Amino acid sequence: MRSTGRLHLGNYVGALKTWIELQEKYDCYFMLADWHALTSDYADPSNLKATIRGNLMDWLAAGIDPERSVVFLQSLIKEHAELALILGMFTPTPWCERNPSYKDQIVQLANKDLETYGFLGYPVLQAADILVYRAHVVPVGEDQLAHLEITREIARRVNFLHGGPIESGTNIPENPIFPEPEPFLSAIPKLPGFDGRKMSKSYDNAIYLTDTADQVWEKTRQMVTDPARVKRTDKGDPEKCSVYTYHKLFTPDRTEEIGSACRGATIGCIDCKKILAGSVNAILEPMRERRAALESRPGTATEILADGCDRARKEAEATMAVVRERLNLAGSVEDLAPEATNPENSH
Ligand code: SF4
Repeated sequence: MRSTGRLHLGNYVGALKTWIELQEKYDCYFMLADWHALTSDYADPSNLKATIRGNLMDWLAAGIDPERSVVFLQSLIKEHAELALILGMFTPTPWCERNPSYKDQIVQLANKDLETYGFLGYPVLQAADILVYRAHVVPVGEDQLAHLEITREIARRVNFLHGGPIESGTNIPENPIFPEPEPFLSAIPKLPGFDGRKMSKSYDNAIYLTDTADQVWEKTRQMVTDPARVKRTDKGDPEKCSVYTYHKLFTPDRTEEIGSACRGATIGCIDCKKILAGSVNAILEPMRERRAALESRPGTATEILADGCDRARKEAEATMAVVRERLNLAGSVEDLAPEATNPENSH
């Protein structure tokens, strides 16, 4: 996850909720992606460390379990950078240029100069993030499938050239370096901001995971409802109301009941919003408790991150040892001894 700001309900339903479930089935690696944040925020990184710390606390509060999963900071595992540099040698530039989100983001973030080498190479760094752990599965939304496809193509290219002899009748090398990661597709619901506009940092219109119960109510109270319901007795259309969009995600057991009460004007918008605030707070309350417990033990989150970085680094180092060996790169000066540099001894 790019460390670009405070986490909100959209991040929870779009990513964190799935991650928490994935921990049940997989050995998971969760990365605070600070280098990726720099690809767009390089001009002003003044909030970066505070954002990372806040995101880490949010993850742990939401239920990411550091006993089961590896939680780490991208820039502290230098192997990501080394592998990205090497994968860049294998990546034709059109693969990056045709990436649909590249042009899209340049338009969306028009206030930033993103015509940079680093931003163009974003998918290569992302490939390194995935392949350095030889990941088999990556949780993505539909809109990120193209990114993962570039990772798969890069892995295939490296494997084809350096994965040993190709098995006869196939395209598959006998000894691939990287698995081709599969997508774990989950529907990413689109949550509007509480003012009805697109949820965005610049509009500051999100309910944050750190909001208090009062802040949740204050924001819920402001939510835009069906404009046809001027009076309490006016019948409404819940599909035209952002409160209802939130109910579908946060009050799933009562969605039908609320929808027909709105259509029949048997519920008022204030009561409907109170139910929603209650549902959101029911999700956030356990997070508040876990966050308070973490904050009462200063140093715990830092220790968790240090341990996660150690575990991640071991995996990344093991992968890079294989990569260096296959590419005939020296792992140390001893690798340049006369007997080691004889091409007869090389693969
Ligand atoms: Fe929206 Fe609820 Fe009011 Fe219907 S009753 S318009 S769903 S807030």
